[in-house]
Amino acid sequence: MRRPLIAANWKMHGSPEAVQRFLEILLARFGNDAGREIVLCPPFTALPAAVMVASGSSIAVGGQNCHWEDKGAFTGEVAAAMLVELGARWVIVGHSERRQYFGETDATAAARARTAQRAGLSVIYCLGETLEQRDAGEALAVLERQSAVLAGLDPERLAVAYEPVWAIGTGRNATPDQAQEAHAFLRARVAGLLGDHPAAALRILYGGSVKADNAAELLGREDVDGALVGGASLDAEAFSAIIRCAPGVVARGE
Ligand code: PEP
Repeated sequence: MRRPLIAANWKMHGSPEAVQRFLEILLARFGNDAGREIVLCPPFTALPAAVMVASGSSIAVGGQNCHWEDKGAFTGEVAAAMLVELGARWVIVGHSERRQYFGETDATAAARARTAQRAGLSVIYCLGETLEQRDAGEALAVLERQSAVLAGLDPERLAVAYEPVWAIGTGRNATPDQAQEAHAFLRARVAGLLGDHPAAALRILYGGSVKADNAAELLGREDVDGALVGGASLDAEAFSAIIRCAPGVVARGE
């Protein structure tokens, strides 16, 4: 049984105060919810506030990126160990916006993920095809290529996020069938790379315009073990509604 993992990616939004207000609402609802794992990834500047408010609860905090070197002359970058020092437990790696705007490649994403795991972080590793690739019938081939790097990662500290690029921030989500097909493909691929047992235990999240009104159908599919949520995670009510769609233990007070 895989415990659903619902992660919020706030991207370049949100102040420490906004994070605090958001977490206070979430903690009241899901702070003792052992049936689902909830992770908030705010901007770096709001991480200390997030860690302070979530401390001692079942809600974890993560970064949105980290560098592949442990330290050094890399102006503007953040080391995995710095995230750990702050109290973060997770980091998102290889997000399509990093790939699209900041030159992230499979190789650099893999290097970041390896360094993050070595520092003690768990990694949400993102991959997914573009619209052109899907329309050309290449979606699964792209996933096969992008997922090769997973062979070098520790499955104990890993979740994979299938995020079709055409669905991120567009309001156009993959259908549950499209998501299930991609997730089943990725699970089989991970079985080949890391073994049957790690593949069976691996959480594969769907990301791409997840909202309260499509979450139940997506999260109800066999190989969809959670969600990485961008836009809808900025609002505590919308994000709570998505969390409630994950088939975990009923939230406190509900
Ligand atoms: C994301 O940022 O990973 C994401 C899936 O964004 P959105 O939910 O806004 O599509």
